[in-house]
Amino acid sequence: MAQPPIHHNPPRPTATMLPSTKTALLTLTTLLLGSTTSQTIYTGDTLQGYPIISSLDITDVPSNTISRFWLSPAEGQGGLPYFLPIFVARGSEESAHSGKRLSLSASIHGDELNPVAVVQKIFARLNETGRFPGNSSGRQHDEVSAGGFNGTIIGLPTQNPQGNLLNQRNFFTSSSNGFFTNLNRVFPGVTIEEGGGLPDAYAAAIWNDVWGNTTNVDVAVDFHTLSTGSLGPLWCYADYRLDGVQRLAELLEADMIKIDPGEPGSIETTWVEAGVPAITVEIGPGNIWNATLINRTVDYAFRLMEDLQMFGDSSGQVVPDLSETYIVTNFSGTAVSYSGWAEVDVGVLEDVEEGQVIGRVYNSWGDKLEDLSAAVSGRVLDVLVDPAVEAGTGVVTIGYNATASD
Ligand SMILES: [Zn+2]
Repeated sequence: MAQPPIHHNPPRPTATMLPSTKTALLTLTTLLLGSTTSQTIYTGDTLQGYPIISSLDITDVPSNTISRFWLSPAEGQGGLPYFLPIFVARGSEESAHSGKRLSLSASIHGDELNPVAVVQKIFARLNETGRFPGNSSGRQHDEVSAGGFNGTIIGLPTQNPQGNLLNQRNFFTSSSNGFFTNLNRVFPGVTIEEGGGLPDAYAAAIWNDVWGNTTNVDVAVDFHTLSTGSLGPLWCYADYRLDGVQRLAELLEADMIKIDPGEPGSIETTWVEAGVPAITVEIGPGNIWNATLINRTVDYAFRLMEDLQMFGDSSGQVVPDLSETYIVTNFSGTAVSYSGWAEVDVGVLEDVEEGQVIGRVYNSWGDKLEDLSAAVSGRVLDVLVDPAVEAGTGVVTIGYNATASD
């Protein structure tokens, strides 16, 4: 769910080096990076049997294989390292260059869990296609008979395991008595060397060391859910101003598409600003696994692969079914004016009329404090189902199309 940007970044360290020293170090850093950026760097360690890497280059990971890696984007206070699991489904040898490179990332917000299952199930289903015979745990099919795979998919099922640990959407930083940072507002991040705080460096590690500062990725989808406490359908944010984004959104066969200018610092908008078509897919409520919405999103990923010609033996043009997709340009939020207990009459995807009473707020005695009404005619996107509310909280979001007269 769209949230107001949270800027609780810790104070950044002040550079105290002399300019000449700093320049020399930067030059050295650039030289070192220049000699190592075009290869996957293995640290030599393993975790749960899988290699730990500090940098990914999809062109040198095993072809015809689904590989698993760990990458540590940061260490918490006291030196506790965080580890991100990374799938890389690499197709035929030549397709690292000739095929599309797709990033599927999930759960940058730690309470958004449908996306975790989506990425896990996408790679399980890829494994079952028999198109990755190099995968020792996969079915041993002949690559040619299975048609091979044309391209590469990078999957990040849990981008914020610390958020999962804390049962929290945001990322906790210990410095200065502690801050919570919305990681989806700090991309592409800032390294520690460049003066970033820990959350900035964490984002920079994903951006640079997994996605190669876009060199590993042509198309990207970032999976989210609503904030905990709300119900919603399968929908997406899409910035139609960049070529390719509308196609990504339509292939989702979503319940709603929000044509949207994006959010600075979000993963989606960082991709779009870098010229990489990307959307934010919102998969129902937070903190649960909804099988129907998970399966619809996994199916979307395979439609997208088909559309990107990643299955070497397929050439069919995908025609998305948009008959149930409600496409909007604006949201209208109905918020409560009082803290208390909210009762909402409308359900997800219900059509409402401007002025329609859609709920009410009670005090602790059960006396009605106010009626809640729709400010516009449109379709309900999400409904708060946690009845305990504080003043100012949005309880219903209505999608609608703004006209010239609005
Ligand atoms: Zn989110």
